[in-house]
Amino acid sequence: MQFIETRGNDGKKAKKVNFSDAILSPSASFGGLYVPEELPAFDRAFLDRHLGSSYKELAGAVLQAFGIDIDSSTIQAALERYDLFDDPSDPVPLVQIEEDCFVSELFHGPTRAFKDMALQPFGYILSKLAQQRGERYLIMAATSGDTGPATLETFKNQPNIQVACLYPDGGTSDVQRLQMVTEEGQNLKVIGVKGNFDDTQSSLKALLASKDFHDELALRDIKLSAANSVNFGRILFQIIYHIHSYLELARKGVIKIGDAIYLVVPSGNFGNALGAYYAKKAGVPIRKILIASNINNILTDWITSGVYDLTHRSLIRTESPAMDILKSSNIERVMFDKFGAERTKELFESLESEGKFVLTEEEAAQLREDFDATFSSDTEGEEVIALYANRGYLLDPHTATCLKAYRDLRVEQLPTVIYSTAEWTKFSPTIAKALGHRAEGDIEALKWISENQRVAIPPMVSGLFEKTIRHTIIVDKDSIKEEMLKFL
Ligand SMILES: *Cc1c(COP(=O)(O)O)cnc(C)c1O
Repeated sequence: MQFIETRGNDGKKAKKVNFSDAILSPSASFGGLYVPEELPAFDRAFLDRHLGSSYKELAGAVLQAFGIDIDSSTIQAALERYDLFDDPSDPVPLVQIEEDCFVSELFHGPTRAFKDMALQPFGYILSKLAQQRGERYLIMAATSGDTGPATLETFKNQPNIQVACLYPDGGTSDVQRLQMVTEEGQNLKVIGVKGNFDDTQSSLKALLASKDFHDELALRDIKLSAANSVNFGRILFQIIYHIHSYLELARKGVIKIGDAIYLVVPSGNFGNALGAYYAKKAGVPIRKILIASNINNILTDWITSGVYDLTHRSLIRTESPAMDILKSSNIERVMFDKFGAERTKELFESLESEGKFVLTEEEAAQLREDFDATFSSDTEGEEVIALYANRGYLLDPHTATCLKAYRDLRVEQLPTVIYSTAEWTKFSPTIAKALGHRAEGDIEALKWISENQRVAIPPMVSGLFEKTIRHTIIVDKDSIKEEMLKFL
């Protein structure tokens, strides 16, 4: 399978590239993204065939259907990363919380958030490719909390890859910070930046755009890649679990193969939702994908009105920080799929120059064939957390936004899967607050919830508080480059 560009070709880059090139150098012409030239069929016959498959078998079949240029032993070894999950035979459990509502738990990996689903196997493949080509790569990430730990964890001690991770000092939870600053691995660098996440992210963008920095990298024979969800390598692994959820409902006897279901996806950069869109397009019977947001509800506007407008917005900090995003990267891939390269380029140029784009009525209607959307405030989220905690199920604040979409947006009473993107342990002070307890920091919140709700704290979380801190550097925005050069 070949990959093409969402904003068309500039005559300098190749018009079509292999999967390996698309993931090693993920930026396409005109600032666009790579997308598969066509999709395989995950139709009824495929679903029937995989009713008895394990997660890894299904994943292997999905990757094979995409015909990517990665050898099968590398793919097998990459999929073995799912053996690090809590239950290797069931890495993504499906839990019933209502008569017709099921939670697909995507957080059973090493860093307790859904980023592990894709980053774990992706990290292995990227490092293997770099070794095969005899090239060295630098991955830089700015994180508000979940991407950083998952990126460090997947690449630690992997040959030919160095990772630098920038986080806003004081802007993450204790658990998230400890996951980063205690990480071992000679090839990792973690830098706290004075300022908020926006400052951190813009410093990284400035650094990546500076010729000076590129010259320094060239001098050291290091290439740049990216591990965020602009990289199709991550999206590929985010198609698999949507097919898996469907099969799980069939295995539980809730549906027969062919019956329609709803999916509810808590969204930020729209990578998770894009995976669902590709699964639907490839033939999985999904009636609609319901998009849940917090009050940074630009995706709700985009889907319900066709207007994407940054001009009257600034980012608001919420209790679901991984969804505090205004420029959502992966909507571009949906728009390309529906409206083509020329229109996509026009719309994103408008977004860059005027801070906004407006779809036609017809285009907006096309979007609503696949999606609907709503958003929740922090207070609404806390009510949902309290409601389900009283029934014995703990939801994290991101997952909690899904319940409103489940209640309000379904037109038919079809079985529904909502995605849980983080374990409660990553956002314990918010959960304690929802249950009426003001905690002083994560460790107190974790213990209080553990006792009150009779749930165990997993060892990789409780152990964090005893681990040696290995990364202590906290710098001003202006000193990031200097720190990076020391590391390289
Ligand atoms: C990253 C993340 C999201 C958003 O996922 P996207 O694919 O960027 O839409 C939601 N919840 C949690 C906990 C996350 O870490």
